[in-house]
Parts: sequence; structure tokens; C-alpha cells
Amino acid sequence: MDAEPTSQTLPTAVTHLVVGAGFAGLGAAIRLDEAGESDFLVIEKDGDVGGTWRANTYPGAACDVPSQLYSFSFAPNPEWTRSFSPQPEIHAYLRRVARESGVLDRFAFGTTLEEARYDEVARRWVVRTSRGEITATTLISGSGGLSEPRLPEIEGIEDFRGELFHSARWDHDVDLAGNRVAVIGTGASSIQLVPEVAKVAAHLDVHQRTAPYVIPRNDRRYTRVERLLFRHVPAVQKAYRTATYWGRESYVPAFVRQPRLALPAKKAALLNIARGIPDPELRARVTPDYEIGCKRILISNTYYPALARDHVDLVTDPIVRITGDSIVTADGTERPVDVIIVATGFHTTEQPIAERIHGRGGRTLAEVWADTGMASYKGTTTHGFPNLFQLVGANTGLGHSSMVFIIESQIAYVLDAIATMRIHRYAALEPRRDVQDAWNRDLQRRMRRTVWSTGGCASWYLDAHGRNTTLWPRATFTFRSLLARFDVEAYDVEAHRTDERIPA
Ligand code: NAP
Repeated sequence: MDAEPTSQTLPTAVTHLVVGAGFAGLGAAIRLDEAGESDFLVIEKDGDVGGTWRANTYPGAACDVPSQLYSFSFAPNPEWTRSFSPQPEIHAYLRRVARESGVLDRFAFGTTLEEARYDEVARRWVVRTSRGEITATTLISGSGGLSEPRLPEIEGIEDFRGELFHSARWDHDVDLAGNRVAVIGTGASSIQLVPEVAKVAAHLDVHQRTAPYVIPRNDRRYTRVERLLFRHVPAVQKAYRTATYWGRESYVPAFVRQPRLALPAKKAALLNIARGIPDPELRARVTPDYEIGCKRILISNTYYPALARDHVDLVTDPIVRITGDSIVTADGTERPVDVIIVATGFHTTEQPIAERIHGRGGRTLAEVWADTGMASYKGTTTHGFPNLFQLVGANTGLGHSSMVFIIESQIAYVLDAIATMRIHRYAALEPRRDVQDAWNRDLQRRMRRTVWSTGGCASWYLDAHGRNTTLWPRATFTFRSLLARFDVEAYDVEAHRTDERIPA
């Protein structure tokens, strides 16, 4: 597939405009097409499909959700080589699905959404992109919850004269071999790339602000027989997927109700430290002081042994300043460094795209959410933003299972909404304020007893007000059942005028 734009001239009007070509946008495009809603365009700022799996190319990038569950239900992948897939395999899978689905002719790569405004008279979205203006009846955003890198605000960072890049914008032109490297952050990305960087760097400083829990990664290669079965007996792969799904779902009570059910995982994490690190002083410094599950539980067999290597230092004194060629910590130590890798995560609770989407009265999502934090209905639709559907919206994230399951649940809901609009000749729909408020009150009530609230940590799950507006606090099958039917009674609707042209 070309990395160049596949659609050289943008249409000026489409029925559905989809933003982003990751799992969400690609899945939406395929399902729209299958449903006969073929008048759509997918705009993607980059040059390829894949979303997060195209953007994150750092060494060691892999998924920590088992491969069998990390694919579209309608496009199983018998080609997985391992039980946890590395990034290149997932990206290749998405490219293949895109190619074979026959929808790529409606993808405009290299096209960025700059601003979207809802026209209340025409009842259409007017979207300014980097390549021209497009109007659309529905705006379906699949722009991703973990796509905008968050750079740390550290004094002097802009004065650093060496190489500096974010884990999600890996600079493959920088040769780390023989260099002094610093990694800032010890989250999911960091613990995957640190062992790889340690293999080549002359010296590595890992700057830890909060110790993560890291349990063993039970990854293995699939045997030849398994792969043959996946290819020729689809029921076998289906059975693996089902077993994985229910295995993962069994973790939910430990997160949302009974944190002590996570005790075996905590023991496994502490054993992982003991196995990987001989030095008791270093062991103590990597041992978390909050409850397991409060932050995302990470998986690795190689992270702790990497920290224990002679040329790797774990630095726990806070960074106070970056100079032209060093990092200075609060204890006064200055560590010379050639390359800084910031593995400091993403903008999660204040999504930059929220500043670009203007609903009724011209107000942006960011303005509407300034006081409440991200708040939508069923994580998909938002009062004041008619015909806007957000995939991976507020409170749809997971700490334990596959986001693809959530995305597919949302896509089905969106398709049912679109079918409802067609059947009843609705020009616009948006969730009722009272229904949306009740939905969010219920979510926040449930949040109170989860380990994300009670576990004694700060995390990217929480916004500036301490509200968890990112995660889904119930079973994923509950999410799916709540979105199984488009509940039009929860919506304010506007009918088409009799003289109005109904979109194709
Ligand atoms: P992250 O989990 O948000 O971790 C960011 C790290 O940077 C944390 O250790 C954080 O410390 C630290 N940090 C942030 N600002 C800092 C500062 N100013 N000074 C020092 N340290 C700072 O980000 P991520 O590792 O990129 O992962 C984000 C999410 O992406 C994950 O939770 C996961 O959902 C997903 N992901 C998944 C995989 C996978 O499937 N294997 C891999 C990568 C990412 P604190 O803990 O103190 O805030």
C-alpha cells in the first residue's frame, strides 16, 4: 500500500467523515461499507493506516494484550507468531485488513483535521482539513486516546544540544550505540524500550518518578501445529480467543470492587523484582508504594534484569533541570548525556482534538469539558455536539483487556444510530442532557470504590480534578450489552425538513 495520499482530490461533501486510520477509524470504515453506508471519507494525518501501531516504532514495542484478542472479530489473524504480538506484526495485520477490505479508495492520508464546526442551520459538520474543506452529516472520530505525546515540562529542556525524542516519535536516524542515554519515565513504553536500549548504549540512566508494578510476561512462540490449526481450523483460533477473553474478564472484580483479589498479581510482581534484581537497595527503589492495579500493570521479563546491569543506573531523585549536555537531579548530581528519550506518556484527559471540535453555539468540546472533565454518553456521543460519534471516547479505556472489543461495540452502536436516522428521516441527534448526566453520575459513583481511586497513586487515568474520565469501570460484556441497541429515546432528535435533500 502507498504511503502517499490515496485520494488526491478531496470530495467537498460526504455523508460520513471518519477521523483517523487506526483500529477505530479502519474498523468504522469497513463496517460502514458493509452496512451500505459507502459515502464516507477517512482522513488520516499520517501516511499509512495503523494509528498507535504505526506511530510507536520504538525498539521492543509490543502489545500487552494477548494476540488472539487483539484483532477485529470479523478479521481473525492466523498469522500471529506469538502469544503477545510485537508492533510490526500488528501494523502488518492492520495494513493487510485495510488492503483486503476494499475501502482504501476512500482514505485520504496526509490530511489533518484542523477544525470541525457544527452548522446548526444546515445540520452538517463543516470540517477544515489541511487539504481543504469537507462537509459531512456525521463526524466519526477515531483519533485515539493515546496519540498526542506529552512532553515533560522540565527547566532547560529546550536548551539540550544532544538528541531528544519521545518514545512515540522514535528517531531511527539516531544511533544509540556507544552513547550515554537517559530515559525519562517508567511506564508501559519505557519498560519495553529500556532493555533494548541497554543492549547498545554505553551508559543508560533510567529516571523513575513512580515505580510501576511489573509482572512476568508469559509470552511464547506459537508452535507450527498451532499455526496450522489457526489457518485451517478457524474454530480452534476462535476457542483460543474466547478463552483469552474470559480469562481477562475475570480480572475485572480485582480492579473495580475487591482489590485484594489482585494479591497473587502483587506477589508475582514482587517475585519478578526478586528474580531480576540481586541488589536489595535497588530492589527497594523499584518496589511500588501503592496498590497494584492503581496504575496500569505492566508485563516484562527483561526490564528488571536490564536495570540490574552494570552500565544502567536507576535514578529516583527528581529531575530539576536539563542543561545543554546533562540532566541535573534534586540531590545536585549532574549526569552527562548524549541522547534523551522521553517516555512520558500522552495527553489523555485533555485531548487536543477536543479544542478543534465546535458544537452548538460554537463551543468546543474542550470548553464544555473544562469544568466537568471529559463526559459523554456511553463514551460515544455528547450533548451539544449533534451527529458526533467518538470512538474510544470518555470512560471507554481498559486496564485489563482489548480495546478492539470496545471499539467494535461502539461501531455497532454508531451503525445502529445511522440506521435509525435513515429509517426515521432524522437530520440530527444528540444525547439528552439529563440522560448524559445520569450516565456520568453512575460512572463516577462506581469509580469511587475502584483501585484506580483507592489505590493511593496518581495516574493518567485521572484528570486535573482527580476524576477518572478515561476508564470503563465494569465488565466489557456489560459495555457491549449497553451499546447493543441505539436507544433513540435517550436522544433529542431533529427531523429532516420535507424540502431537504437526504444524504446518500
Ligand atoms: P505512561 O504510562 O503515562 O508513563 C509515563 C511515565 O513517564 C511514567 O512513569 C511517569 O511517571 C513518567 N513521567 C511523566 N512525566 C514526567 C516528568 N515530568 N518527569 C519524570 N517522569 C515523568 O506512558 P506510556 O508508557 O507511554 O504508556 C501510556 C499507555 O499506553 C499505557 O498505559 C498503555 O495503556 C499504552 N501502552 C501500551 C503498551 C503495550 O501494550 N505494551 C505499550 C506502551 C503503551 P509517573 O508514574 O510518576 O506519572
